[in-house]
Amino acid sequence: MDIEYLIKALDSEHETKCPICGSEMLIAESDDGGIYWKCQQGDYSRNKNQPYPTDGILRCDKCNSPYVFSMINQPRWVCTANPKHYHQLKKNDLKLPKMAALLSPEEKMKVQKYFQQHTAENE
Ligand SMILES: [Zn+2]
Ligand SMILES: [Zn+2]
Repeated sequence: MDIEYLIKALDSEHETKCPICGSEMLIAESDDGGIYWKCQQGDYSRNKNQPYPTDGILRCDKCNSPYVFSMINQPRWVCTANPKHYHQLKKNDLKLPKMAALLSPEEKMKVQKYFQQHTAENE
């Protein structure tokens, strides 16, 4: 583990707090041995090289490009730089006003319906 990075990160208040729900962010180890941050509530994760979304905008966790909303079978954030980069949309993501603003009112209704139908599976 990158001790120097950790010491610095633990010193900065926002690195250790989930931008979505405000819970504590935990440090986890990824498959390739790197480290990443994971919200205690499981609604947000971010790799260590990805800047913290202090502006309230979630970005691609692979290349840091902005996301657009997409929904085929399930709601997703899709990277604007590479459509192979996508992330399942979590209900809490829409607590960030700037992310919620990416959806049209119709899309928001679709997403709401989706989560109503899938709450049982997710919880
Ligand atoms: Zn969280
Ligand atoms: Zn990307």
